[in-house]
Amino acid sequence: MTMVRGVRIVASPCCGAQYALPNYMSMNFSAFAFWTDGWRDGSLMPNDEGLRRCQCGQFVLLKNLVEVSTADDSTLPSLGHVSTEQLPECIASAASDEVELAARIMVWHHLNGFVAQTATAHPVGLRHEFEHRQAPTPLPHHQLETIQRCTQGTWVTDHVV
Ligand SMILES: [Zn+2]
Repeated sequence: MTMVRGVRIVASPCCGAQYALPNYMSMNFSAFAFWTDGWRDGSLMPNDEGLRRCQCGQFVLLKNLVEVSTADDSTLPSLGHVSTEQLPECIASAASDEVELAARIMVWHHLNGFVAQTATAHPVGLRHEFEHRQAPTPLPHHQLETIQRCTQGTWVTDHVV
């Protein structure tokens, strides 16, 4: 069972801004499905690489936050999740290799998500997509170009199955 008790007060390594995060006492890693790229469907735990954006604009990893204290509650803000649209900016401006890697894994998951949906709903359609090596779900052209740039032109969808 996932249990949370109070909050952890943490400081970002970039500018020292403080945030309040859930203080997990126990975690449940169950999910409906586990994909080979690390993605979990129906996960009971956060399903990302711990990538967050500090209020100063810097991208940071949860594991690099500095512990300050714990409290029952806090009015401090939480750290914002990073959206798919922010990933190209994160990769371009990453302060470390591990931040860039986290962003690239999120791009990978984003791409594979289309294949996972197709695999679940249309197994025959998935085979067709692999044969033609195209994104199974239509994407806006500008988004497709961004993702291709992020992955340096390499489709990674065949890592899913
Ligand atoms: Zn900062």
